[in-house]
Amino acid sequence: MKSRRRIGILLAILGAMIGISAMDGGKPSDEAAYAEARNKMVRNQIEARGVKHPVVLEAMRKVRRHLFVPPSFSRDAYADMPLPIGSGQTISQPYIVAVMTELIDPRPGMKVLEIGTGSGYQTAVLCESGVEVYSIEIIEALATQTSQLLDELGYEGAHLRIGDGYAGWPEHAPFDAILLTAAPREVPAPLMEQVKPGGCIVLPVGDSDQELKKLVLTEQGWNETVVFPVRFVPMTGKAESAQ
Ligand code: SAH
Repeated sequence: MKSRRRIGILLAILGAMIGISAMDGGKPSDEAAYAEARNKMVRNQIEARGVKHPVVLEAMRKVRRHLFVPPSFSRDAYADMPLPIGSGQTISQPYIVAVMTELIDPRPGMKVLEIGTGSGYQTAVLCESGVEVYSIEIIEALATQTSQLLDELGYEGAHLRIGDGYAGWPEHAPFDAILLTAAPREVPAPLMEQVKPGGCIVLPVGDSDQELKKLVLTEQGWNETVVFPVRFVPMTGKAESAQ
């Protein structure tokens, strides 16, 4: 009887320890659990829906998404949905990040412009895919916080700037690819001037009805493909008044 009670107490302590560590977010045991959640996310949400690019799948397995969401959402970090990141903005659903990264066909040394740094998760996935990222964020509080996080995590391939991404980043143009994670009503004209021949722009376009589009700059001009309907936060700043 006595030993049974002892086992019961031990189990309770063990349960409490697991509970506490799962809340804590930084212990090695949690990292293992998060890594498992990440592998599952890649298998069930991303590969299962047809994303095949090995570099992208590996990057999605690597980037610790739970560090890019507010602590109160760490436990939902690998769920199949966007999450709030403050300032009325959201971190995109993991599948959408994977699709957009696959659409630019990342190769080492490529130069990519990202408009809408937000949490920095897409930025980190791009860095892990071997590309050099120039990223612009219009909300100062988000940009500052994300810049610090990406520094802490050692993403040296990420170059961040606060500002309106409508005009692109001419000092570093031309880019192999431009990726927008906020939706303008129409493709901002200045961005079309900053793509290398053969390069592309991947973006959500539209108002309440948005589509994810890929525009490739061919010798004959722009070649547009519609990927699927999406819902992103609107692009603010000049994009709101430009059309
Ligand atoms: N890629 C981000 C998505 C964040 S949501 C992530 O993974 O977390 C889109 C972001 O675009 C928001 O942070 C928003 O502030 C930013 N944004 C909107 N309009 C912008 C503009 N004109 N220039 C730069 N960033 C903009």
